[in-house]
Amino acid sequence: MSGSTARLQAINAVTSYAPISEPLNFSEVTMSELFGANVFGLSVMKDRLPKAVYESVLETVQSGSLLDPSVADVVATAMKDWAISKGATHYAHVFYPLTGSTAEKHDSFLSPDGQGGAIAEFAGKTLIQGEPDASSFPNGGIRATFEARGYTAWDVTSPAYILENPNGTTLCIPTAFVSWTGEALDKKTPLLRSMQALNKQAQRILRVFGHEEIDNVVSYAGAEQEYFLIDRHFFFARPDLIASGRTLFGAPPPKGQEFDDHYFGAIPERVLAFMLETERELFKLGIPVKTRHNEVAPGQYEVAPVFEQANLATDHQQLMMVTLKRVAEKYGMTCLLHEKPFAGVNGSGKHVNFSLGNGTQGNLLDPGDNPHANAQFLVFCAAVIRGVHKYAGLLRAVVASAGNDHRLGANEAPPAILSIFLGEQLTDVFEQISRDGDATSSKLKGKLTVGVDTLPELPKDAGDRNRTSPFAFTGNRFEFRAVGSNQSIAGPMVALNTIVAESLDFIATELEAAVASDPVELHAAIQKVLQGVMSKHGAVIFNGDGYSDAWHAEAAERGLPNLRSTVDALPTLESDEVISLFESYGVLSKRETMSRLEVFLEQYCMSVTLEARTTVEMARTVVFPAAVRYQGELASTANSLKALGYAFDADTLDKLSGLVKALQDGIAGLEAALVEQPGETLQAHAEHCRNAVLPAMLTVRAAADGLEGIVADDLWPLATYQEMLFIK
Ligand code: ADP
Ligand code: MG
Repeated sequence: MSGSTARLQAINAVTSYAPISEPLNFSEVTMSELFGANVFGLSVMKDRLPKAVYESVLETVQSGSLLDPSVADVVATAMKDWAISKGATHYAHVFYPLTGSTAEKHDSFLSPDGQGGAIAEFAGKTLIQGEPDASSFPNGGIRATFEARGYTAWDVTSPAYILENPNGTTLCIPTAFVSWTGEALDKKTPLLRSMQALNKQAQRILRVFGHEEIDNVVSYAGAEQEYFLIDRHFFFARPDLIASGRTLFGAPPPKGQEFDDHYFGAIPERVLAFMLETERELFKLGIPVKTRHNEVAPGQYEVAPVFEQANLATDHQQLMMVTLKRVAEKYGMTCLLHEKPFAGVNGSGKHVNFSLGNGTQGNLLDPGDNPHANAQFLVFCAAVIRGVHKYAGLLRAVVASAGNDHRLGANEAPPAILSIFLGEQLTDVFEQISRDGDATSSKLKGKLTVGVDTLPELPKDAGDRNRTSPFAFTGNRFEFRAVGSNQSIAGPMVALNTIVAESLDFIATELEAAVASDPVELHAAIQKVLQGVMSKHGAVIFNGDGYSDAWHAEAAERGLPNLRSTVDALPTLESDEVISLFESYGVLSKRETMSRLEVFLEQYCMSVTLEARTTVEMARTVVFPAAVRYQGELASTANSLKALGYAFDADTLDKLSGLVKALQDGIAGLEAALVEQPGETLQAHAEHCRNAVLPAMLTVRAAADGLEGIVADDLWPLATYQEMLFIK
């Protein structure tokens, strides 16, 4: 489909858009009936399981205790009966390989009964463990052929659910994916391990503070997902979008996002219909979606759920990405989750809101009204500050990808420098501690008067927001803003859980020692620890404009790392510091960490190479033919005019010919960069991709985008930015 056909068909799709199904009547099926209807959650289990079995499962879910294997058969039967009552014919162990995607292998419940018939069967052992083979997933060298077995193991803490399809339903069981040697081949296993580590260290701190009843401490995640929607006709008219998820060509449209008229604007009807159906599907899966709005770039939107316990939030986030893509198709659109689908307008991120807490002590990052007097909060907050400073390189590495490189540091997203925005109130408290050893006051929240008599006074937050910080305190949580829209949030959560666990361990050790010698020393010991953390790690706090050049210079003076690209950031994973961090807390062995480094580098190289090949092919077979056709048209017009004695201004033809030459030279340069052998190691290959391949792609693009501004519109084969972003 050429650009102009796609345009006409997309316009037709928009102008003749009619609702595809009866709108859901929320007065007949209420939201509360809908919510979790397809989830084998605790309430369903309570109804369907014998009391003792239910309590055993509950114990595992709530306190992280070991699952009693003897209950598996009972749970499996109840789960199967429930699923079949919902129309399921198959079950699937769902797992999360290192690619960041979601994988599933489906099996039928049916087993032959030996008499020519079949019965529905689902035994405990099938629930607990699967062996999907799945040997083609990248494993970074962990699964050599002699130990190629891979197992999926039931994660009791993330409930099973039903996936609907017009032709049937499937029971899906979230699982961890491990090798025959017990090594983690996935994103879930280290996440679960990191949650255990965090719990253990947080408990120590809470005990020092004298709490006796302490629930399991978990981390929470609330992930705000940004995405683009474009008409599907455009998607299929763009080989670059199909192959790589982003446009490799495209001149800037006359109108971009400069008017800010899309942000929070009225949502177009087709898009809103899509959102409503997506939300309905997510509700059924028990995913508490809450917020929706237009984002900054034209064609860009955001959806955010209410935060949940990190493991569940991570699984739900994966389901959300799949659901967004699936439902968009139904509405004749494609959902683009790439971090930078369009150059020149904002890319998409995924802000991950992070906190930790439990049922007995609540949110441990809630400062209350008087943070200066809330020593427990200050300790947990200081642990985060210390961790982010000490392991800034790790946090940068876990958000590194070829896609996210286009976004970080591009004045639309936080820079690659990790710093913390604390806000005025907390910064003041921590400054008092640094200076005087103790904090005696908290700046007040106050009231905000609007200046209109009919409007009420509004409570004012103690600090303003800062959108340029990669890691911002936002009242009762930290918001990690550098995560890319397409990424699994598991990596960032593993890193956050583990660095905070390490800090809490450090602080707990100091405080425990002080209290052991004299319990009244606690207050003094806390002061000392907080002062120590601030003097060593306070440099990471920055409340100013993270987008400014001045900050780059200042950050360098403060010694904060600025790892600009994936290629700079990933090697942090093999530093002794990171390897021993993950090893000490039982999150990842050295081999597991190294395998991740290998997979991520490989993925970077593959992404860039794929984009480069697509660039060559499109430039040669799509852009070049259009350009020379127009060149021929201009040349023959020139000849005809000259034959008739008219003058012909060759300016356009000159420009066009210059760009055609530049395009051809660019293609040759890119091809040369692609065949060059940059050395043995993956790191060398990745560096070559960044230093030679990506710039060569940009050279080709510059010529092609120049041609887009000259070649006759009816000859231009690619859907333009204006069309893709504004026809909806
Ligand atoms: P904004 O765009 O202003 O940052 P949103 O409402 O879009 O805010 O998203 C905020 C996210 O933070 C939501 O997912 C919300 O549930 C989550 N959140 C709120 N409180 C916490 C908390 N204590 N821990 C983790 N996440 C939280
Ligand atoms: Mg946010």
